[in-house]
Amino acid sequence: MPPRTLIAGNWKMNLTLPESRHLAQEVLKVAAGAGPEVMIAPPFTALTVVAEVLAGSEVSLGAQNCCWASQGAFTGEISPLMLRELGCAMVILGHSERRHVFGEDNAMINRRLKGALAAGLRPVLCVGETLEERQAGRANPVLKSQLEEGLDAIPIGAGLIVAYEPVWAIGTGQTATPGQAQEAHAFIRETLAGMSQKIVASEIRILYGGSVNEGNVEALLAQADINGALVGGAALKIESFARIIRHHV
Ligand code: PEP
Repeated sequence: MPPRTLIAGNWKMNLTLPESRHLAQEVLKVAAGAGPEVMIAPPFTALTVVAEVLAGSEVSLGAQNCCWASQGAFTGEISPLMLRELGCAMVILGHSERRHVFGEDNAMINRRLKGALAAGLRPVLCVGETLEERQAGRANPVLKSQLEEGLDAIPIGAGLIVAYEPVWAIGTGQTATPGQAQEAHAFIRETLAGMSQKIVASEIRILYGGSVNEGNVEALLAQADINGALVGGAALKIESFARIIRHHV
């Protein structure tokens, strides 16, 4: 059986506290009995208000990053234990904006992953090539090293979530075609199988992210190796996010 579809909303650095509370309340209404698992990842500052709204529901709370250490001299960072204390179940790690705007490399992402797992958070590891890398025919080697170095010395289990987010498709309105996405997802699954076991890799959810909207989600989710979506811009508009949640296969 394919793993349960996961629709995850990455709010990035958006929304005031009242807006966050309102959007979370709307997501809760839409997600009830919808079929896919739903996760929303507000900015750190809104985690408390969103946690209050989601308490006792099936919608998971996620964070957008976390430190590897549980406490200490790490100015500006948030520890995985702090996120657990706030009610987070998941954490997005290695998002392309972290890699390309803030310079996080695979080694740092690997440390963050270990910290998240040690605290009991389910990590969503983002991988993806730039346009330049794709055009140079280097998409697969880039994905392979992001997976191998990002997951170095980490036992790979079915609880791991990977998001394929081609950098050229994030926030650009230029989605990968279902065929392009499926090809990359199949490669990711094959790479994970090589790092663990085929059966384990078949249970890992691989989300697609990059300009997902209500118009393209169905065709993307119809692909064999696409087990959900990581949604940025469209997760901020409840009408769009609702259609994405409901247009599952
Ligand atoms: C993202 O933030 O992970 C993302 C895919 O953004 P968008 O949907 O806006 O491209």
